[in-house]
Amino acid sequence: MCIFCSIINGEIPSYKVYEDENVLGILDISQVTKGHCILMPKRHVANILEADDETAKNLMVASKHLAQTIVSKTNANGVNILTNCKEAAGQTVDHLHFHVIPRFDESDAIEITFNDSNITNLEDIHTLLTK
Ligand code: AMP
Ligand code: ZN
Repeated sequence: MCIFCSIINGEIPSYKVYEDENVLGILDISQVTKGHCILMPKRHVANILEADDETAKNLMVASKHLAQTIVSKTNANGVNILTNCKEAAGQTVDHLHFHVIPRFDESDAIEITFNDSNITNLEDIHTLLTK
């Protein structure tokens, strides 16, 4: 059984911050910023690519609500909501989860930077994705 399924089943302790019929939210064990949480569907699915639409919707709505609570309680200046999908994208636990990471200032231990890749052929990429 995966580690998040064990948390959902109560076999591994966690700090619960959100729960509804379909979704569990807990404090991330490694706090990137103060209040960093993860939200997971109670039914095991490996990642967002494999999730059904209902699961994806449930997680997104729960993320919005939890983000509002976290920002309000921590007085954060912003928040990142993100999911890593598969090893190439940094996923380390193969049970779908969204990170909700409150953001305060430039001293936050997280940096999300969009570097210029020199990819400029938008016409070809648009054709690839849509045709
Ligand atoms: P990712 O790298 O996107 O797959 O994120 C996995 C996250 O799960 C990491 O941020 C870990 O710190 C977190 N994590 C792993 N084990 C636990 C645990 N037992 N309780 C809470 N968070 C955990
Ligand atoms: Zn699982």
